[in-house]
Amino acid sequence: MRNGPRKITTAAPISPAAAEVRTAIRTVLVSWAGLVTDERRLEPPPRDIRALSRFLCRHAEWLAAHPAAGEIVDEIGEITRAARKTAYPNGGGQVPVGDCPNCEGDLVALIRRRDDPLPSEIVCTDFPDHTWPATRWATLARAIQGR
Ligand SMILES: [Zn+2]
Repeated sequence: MRNGPRKITTAAPISPAAAEVRTAIRTVLVSWAGLVTDERRLEPPPRDIRALSRFLCRHAEWLAAHPAAGEIVDEIGEITRAARKTAYPNGGGQVPVGDCPNCEGDLVALIRRRDDPLPSEIVCTDFPDHTWPATRWATLARAIQGR
């Protein structure tokens, strides 16, 4: 009798559009991680989105001083917008909130249904790292009021 690991099927099936965006995200991250590993003579991280993201975050300061920094921000911003558009094709559940306290962008609340695997959050239209999960909305409100 075989005692292999039981197959766990908790993940929701992924749409072709989501799979395509995920591939594009991996391509962008692999490309910028390649720049870091080539120029800093480092071992490349696994070609997994989480590992690549962690690797790039560790080298964020170095990347910020690189001549290609603007290009990196543009590409990652573009792929983030594409991913959000794929996740919310009808723009449903989006509520304008106001001005981002950290930049000139606008804040949009992405209100998700209870059965959505992603949590509700407030995101900035200009910078993908300006995000506030629902648990930090009170902090964000104070930052907006303190502006
Ligand atoms: Zn912002």
